[in-house]
Amino acid sequence: MTAGEATIEATTTDQRRAALEAIATEVRACTRCKLAGGRTHAVPGEGHPDTEVMFVGEGPGQTEDAQGRPFVGRAGELLMRLMASIGWRRQEVFITNIVKCRPPGNRDPEPDEIAACAPYLQRQLAVLDPAVVVTLGRFSMAHFRPGERITQIHGTHAPAPAATGARDALAYALFHPAAALRSPDVERQSYDDMAGLPRVLTEARARRASASGAAPGTAGDPAHDQDPESTVVPMPLPAPELGDDAPTLF
Ligand code: URA
Ligand code: SF4
Repeated sequence: MTAGEATIEATTTDQRRAALEAIATEVRACTRCKLAGGRTHAVPGEGHPDTEVMFVGEGPGQTEDAQGRPFVGRAGELLMRLMASIGWRRQEVFITNIVKCRPPGNRDPEPDEIAACAPYLQRQLAVLDPAVVVTLGRFSMAHFRPGERITQIHGTHAPAPAATGARDALAYALFHPAAALRSPDVERQSYDDMAGLPRVLTEARARRASASGAAPGTAGDPAHDQDPESTVVPMPLPAPELGDDAPTLF
């Protein structure tokens, strides 16, 4: 089976995990753009194969390049504090980047690099089919909310274009945590924006349920144990399924 077929047929947890592994294996060997030359490790992304929420950053920094894992440096620590503020943990979501290899000196990724790397993100989205894509910073926002300005749309959501590979997702825009590290105002705003995320997930679930013809709260609705009107929003996945294991590395 090719990775492409695996993507289309990934309907169980094991199939999704295998499809994500296949993508990660390709990413680690990828030489499609010039960022391949400067990397120590490619950073395909990691998380739970059943998650409803994907976080998409810009590209690996120095710590991520050294470890081959996303958001494990200072910006990552802040992202985890932001997630913890709503009771979420990294092993319950999927975390990846627009480009999978570190731009030298943390410069901005260039258009040819973003274009070369886009098929990997597109395939990750097709496998996971998240209800919500959280964009972190300008480059990720530009991919899922083209033509917008981060200062105007942070803390808001809009449907993600189907061309991204997301089938029926809301794209929710956050500032990049590295920007929050540089500015107390942006940090405060980031906590406020993060506080809105559970409600966006609830809305995304209700939207998908009505698109599939299943009334929210009924069998057939993937979030059937969830009242869409509730203001108490559970974590993306029930905690017992997850335990405290390290997130799956892909
Ligand atoms: N910044 C990003 O955009 N991505 C990472 O993985 C780490 C820092
Ligand atoms: Fe391949 Fe993406 Fe790395 Fe470029 S950034 S070499 S396209 S994995």
